[in-house]
Amino acid sequence: MLSTMYYNVMPDGTVKQVNPFTGNEVWAVPGRKSKPLGSDNGPAPKKVELHDPEDYCSFCPTRYFETPPEKSRLVFRDGRWDRMDILEPDKYSETVAAFRRVGNMFEIVTLDYWRKNYAYKVTPQRLKWRDDYLANPAGFKHINDIIKYKAGQEGKTDEQIDKLPMTERFSVADAFFGGGHELIIARRHLRTGAQNDTDLFSSGDMTLEEHFRYFKFTIEALYDVVQANRYVRYVSVFQNWLRPAGASFDHLHKQLVALDEWGSSIDTQIRMLRDDRNVFNEFGANFASHHNLVFAENDHALAFVGIGHRYPTIEIYSRSQPGRPYEHTDEEIRGVSNLVHAVHAAMGNQISCNEEWYYTPIDAVYKMPWHVLIKWRINVPAGFEGGTSIFINPMAPIELRDTMVPRLYALRDEGKIDRVRIAEECRVDPNPLKYYLK
Ligand SMILES: [Zn+2]
Repeated sequence: MLSTMYYNVMPDGTVKQVNPFTGNEVWAVPGRKSKPLGSDNGPAPKKVELHDPEDYCSFCPTRYFETPPEKSRLVFRDGRWDRMDILEPDKYSETVAAFRRVGNMFEIVTLDYWRKNYAYKVTPQRLKWRDDYLANPAGFKHINDIIKYKAGQEGKTDEQIDKLPMTERFSVADAFFGGGHELIIARRHLRTGAQNDTDLFSSGDMTLEEHFRYFKFTIEALYDVVQANRYVRYVSVFQNWLRPAGASFDHLHKQLVALDEWGSSIDTQIRMLRDDRNVFNEFGANFASHHNLVFAENDHALAFVGIGHRYPTIEIYSRSQPGRPYEHTDEEIRGVSNLVHAVHAAMGNQISCNEEWYYTPIDAVYKMPWHVLIKWRINVPAGFEGGTSIFINPMAPIELRDTMVPRLYALRDEGKIDRVRIAEECRVDPNPLKYYLK
């Protein structure tokens, strides 16, 4: 392997990198990191008055009817976690949802896309759910309200909305029940002891158990999205944290978007896998290990700094044999979840980031390991990047590693992260990712 092709530290400290999986060319230039971390996330903090239960935005627990109907919720009561699917609307307030799964009111890939391009039909179970929901007065009111809200957001006046024929109005609602763009919403808006509106509850504020449930609930949704539409070839799973990362709500949530293709980046990676089944060890884990970029691991996952990303990026890989999240055992999911949680906890809640999941596509015969990228949205690519296709990343990989390590040690001392080996404690055996095994 010609590693200098991908990772080259020049005498002046410039780190030239090419991402082995995407071909992205990136430089980290010393002295470019001008802004302190987390200082540029929008307007200045404003004092908040604490409300219990919370009611700060449409994702908050007192405002269950401001999102589309609930496909599922996860509740913690009497010491156990219960999943409640397609709850009747008049029962929403009987329990407190630790996590809720709802359709996205503004779909990226719409239900109409599937209907018109594939003659997709919403499953009979979901149609029955829709009919039952609309037959319930609370449900009817809920749907009517959010149809009006959605139309208003799309620029229609009240008068125009009232003139819409019922059939047209309610065809919009089908997407709430049968669409493939979903949200997983966490309960909390602000963290404990919050004083300002920027003291938001992030992934790292969860307990390990909560974060595992968040992951597992998301994975169950992912599996269900696949089951509900046989034309789906991939489901994009991501979390945008804070506005610079594209979040339209400050309230923690993940998104799932069903797709009829893999996207060019996964296409390329599958082609690489066809030539070399071990490519994610060779250019991922082994490569990171050789360059001392691995900074944390547990028995089921490892975390290292990625190279050739336009934003400072941490990569967390599952070590497990299965290539899809829903094929992992609970123990294996917990391992990945713990490490992703540790990274979020170490980052704190002020760094805007995207969490992106990658895994073996539904219809791929070449296996890719499940991995999660956490991209710090602390820089904005500008004209230089546009003109040269060379991206400037404000942090060198080693610098990002050295930012994480002391924070992880501190969290472990505080008992906030579990069974994580940090920095030099990492064993990183060769080929630590086992996905390549049959
Ligand atoms: Zn909220």
